[in-house]
Amino acid sequence: MVSTTHPVSKVAIVTGAARGIGAAISARLARDGFAVAVLDLDEAACAKTVEAVEKEGGRALAVGCDVSDSAQVDAGVARVATELGAPTVLVNNAGIIRDNLVFKMTDQDFDSVIGVHLRGAFLMARAVQRHQTAAGWGRIVNLSSSAALGNRGQSNYSSAKAGLMGLTKTLAIELGPFGVTVNCVAPGFIATEMTEATAERMGISFEEFTERYAKAIPVRRGGRPEDIAQAVSFFVREEAGFVNGQILYVAGGPKG
Ligand code: NAP
Repeated sequence: MVSTTHPVSKVAIVTGAARGIGAAISARLARDGFAVAVLDLDEAACAKTVEAVEKEGGRALAVGCDVSDSAQVDAGVARVATELGAPTVLVNNAGIIRDNLVFKMTDQDFDSVIGVHLRGAFLMARAVQRHQTAAGWGRIVNLSSSAALGNRGQSNYSSAKAGLMGLTKTLAIELGPFGVTVNCVAPGFIATEMTEATAERMGISFEEFTERYAKAIPVRRGGRPEDIAQAVSFFVREEAGFVNGQILYVAGGPKG
């Protein structure tokens, strides 16, 4: 049955929230009135984001958890439910890159990227949907990428990000009847440590890297983590309840 009431519990989990886009999403959701579970591999590394959430007036909980490990995911989500409240919002943002051209890509680099992005999002969604369906309300937002359309040197990453689009649409169909919407934000170039690492791998400064990208982006600038947080904030709000199974490119143009 579809619930039209407000969420019983305004508790969000953001994965990969220690820095970058996840940190910006956490602060934004706190401003929107959510308590935020700041989940990342290293619990201690979440301290700065916890502080930012609290500065926005939100309650926060740091949770150390590897999203690709099913036992850690189940324990982490259970801890959030006990210590912060039943989670009704999930933002699957955790990610890694292990770029290489296909002839040099190892089995492990392929598997670990799929493991964090795709398997991680599946495991988190499976654990959190129990609380969402019980509440009759929920929101899941998956972080895909314009790389889903293809990107040289990223056969692992673009496969994972395209997979997330399929996962989004299927979960939207399965969970919609329980008042849970599932959508996808696909960022283009965003300035974070992840893109800094790419510039380093290419042997150019981050300034030069950003400038090159900006020239090709219709709005002529690189993206900021806050640009993505803004899109996530839209999808999780009550009024967005009829938007389900959609992909929103946030890339300064129609695609990355
Ligand atoms: P980032 O700065 O590298 O941050 C990613 C965070 O995820 C890190 O704190 C990282 O922890 C954490 N993480 C990695 N593996 C994890 C795991 N197994 N379990 C839990 N946490 C884990 O990346 P970002 O640029 O903010 O990107 C965030 C998301 O947006 C990613 O899904 C990325 O693919 C997507 N995206 C980014 C861009 C961009 O231009 N930046 C574009 C499109 C899409 P450690 O530091 O310990 O590794």
